[in-house]
Amino acid sequence: MNPLYRNTHYLTSAARLSQAPTDDGREIAFAGRSNAGKSSAINTLCDQKSLARTSKTPGRTQLLNFFEIDPERRLVDLPGYGFAKVSVSIKQQWQGLLSQYLEKRQCLHGLFLMMDIRHPLKDYDVQMLDWAASIGLPAHVLLTKADKLKKGPAAASVLKVRKVLSAYDGDLFSVQAFSALKRQGLDEAHAVMDDWLAL
Ligand code: GDP
Repeated sequence: MNPLYRNTHYLTSAARLSQAPTDDGREIAFAGRSNAGKSSAINTLCDQKSLARTSKTPGRTQLLNFFEIDPERRLVDLPGYGFAKVSVSIKQQWQGLLSQYLEKRQCLHGLFLMMDIRHPLKDYDVQMLDWAASIGLPAHVLLTKADKLKKGPAAASVLKVRKVLSAYDGDLFSVQAFSALKRQGLDEAHAVMDDWLAL
């Protein structure tokens, strides 16, 4: 892995796009339903124990949380979606923030989408893919917690998702199995990040 990822540190949070860092350099956004394993994936990919915990501190869960790798490169932890308990108006607020970020952010080079390998492609996951497809944004799906399935069913889940992704236009989307717990799939995920971040 590129040692630069170990430098990744919390930069700032934004409740609206105007509060985001200057739109230059390169960014990769991380999205997923809550509990999909997004924080664990970010921590593992940056070889740090509690980097993404910053995003879970009260008051920050509905914000865009920016992490700086170096002055030209950032990871962005998007608000986790799928909480049952928040009100419709709060949901609409994040959808507004998310869609604005995805549509307007020039430095955004790709989306990592975390889905539990046992339950991929829930409504919200498909919505994120539809959004990405509509703006021509590349997306890479991490099927998380791969250690929870035996090899056969894990491979079957990857194939199933790959088939759905291939129905979208072109080669924008890719998918792999991933386990933060077993550190499985790190090289493959880093290769995609290196590419999008021009590392
Ligand atoms: P987030 O809400 O998407 O940020 O998810 P977290 O990273 O906090 O993970 C949610 C739960 O899944 C936690 O209990 C994690 O310990 C667990 N988890 C995350 N990644 C893995 C993994 O690779 N394997 C297993 N077995 N559990 C995981």
